[in-house]
Amino acid sequence: MQDVLLQLQKEALDVFLKVQTPEELEAARVEYLGRKGRLAEAMKDLAALDVDARRDAGKIANDVKRTVEASFAATEARIVESAAEDRQAQEWLDVSLPGVVPAVGHLHLTTQAIDEISDIFAHIGFVRSRHPEVDWDYYAFESLNMPKEHPARDEWETFFAEDEGEIALGEKGKIVLTPHTSNGQVREMEKGVLPIRMINIGKCYRRQASARHLPMFHQFEGLMVDTNVSVTELKGVFDYFVKRYFGANRETRLRPYHFRFTEPSFELDISCAVCDGTGKVDGVKCKLCKGGWLELGGAGMVHPNVLKAGGLDPDVYTGFAFGWGVERTMMMRSGINIDDIRTLYKNDLRFLSQF
Ligand SMILES: [Zn+2]
Repeated sequence: MQDVLLQLQKEALDVFLKVQTPEELEAARVEYLGRKGRLAEAMKDLAALDVDARRDAGKIANDVKRTVEASFAATEARIVESAAEDRQAQEWLDVSLPGVVPAVGHLHLTTQAIDEISDIFAHIGFVRSRHPEVDWDYYAFESLNMPKEHPARDEWETFFAEDEGEIALGEKGKIVLTPHTSNGQVREMEKGVLPIRMINIGKCYRRQASARHLPMFHQFEGLMVDTNVSVTELKGVFDYFVKRYFGANRETRLRPYHFRFTEPSFELDISCAVCDGTGKVDGVKCKLCKGGWLELGGAGMVHPNVLKAGGLDPDVYTGFAFGWGVERTMMMRSGINIDDIRTLYKNDLRFLSQF
């Protein structure tokens, strides 16, 4: 009997020693210390012994039970401690590690360009203003010295607003999506605050869609009206903008042109950065420009009829105006070389995230 008990003790201690998880511990407890466990079964056999032998064996049985219970308690403590250590290892937090940076977008490159252009003109006193992008024919054409049915209007592939099948008529003619920002000229004069130094940046719409033309694009329109404004001021403002936006080494020139709402009128050119204004790269004709010059946009002295439409006396006031495409200006500087200008508005993040 004693041998059986001591053998059972040895076996139980071996098992507890190998236990690694709470589940194994519980299984071992049931096996040896449970109500119907091996130790309880062995104790039942004591009843069959005679009194003296039962007393001796009973004493040993109690010793064995205490030893096994002590081993169980020690194993339980060991398991609890190692579980806590595991958890600590898993949950350990290094506060010095860099955090997870949330994805943050940025302004569209056209918006960035508009902000930068506004900022440059603000330095020389041009105040940003906004005028309607859906406007009367009067402001888009008629007040700009383009009477009804004038062929010059054909150059602006205009969208007309329709109202139940009829082209909508307002107080001042048909209603159009503004084909240029020049509709802001007479509107600005009508405010009656002089002198005027306005920079009007807005969306324009034309019936055109190709690799080089967008049905919606942005223009910025400059207008300066005061007494004694001459072409000299126009050239000065143009020079200032070009050197600030494109770089100090860029040259400018005014080339005679014809617009209905300015007289005289000019196309404004800037020197090409690729060939440095020479028109040639390593003796070969420059692929980007025409003879060293790139066309930026149109400008001119405000036509007397336009001043009159704005309620100003052309004998007292003179002014100049210019209008350039934002997308075109921006692409000329950044050297963004895209085959299709429509890429700007396809909202493809692979393209947009580069800027
Ligand atoms: Zn060139």
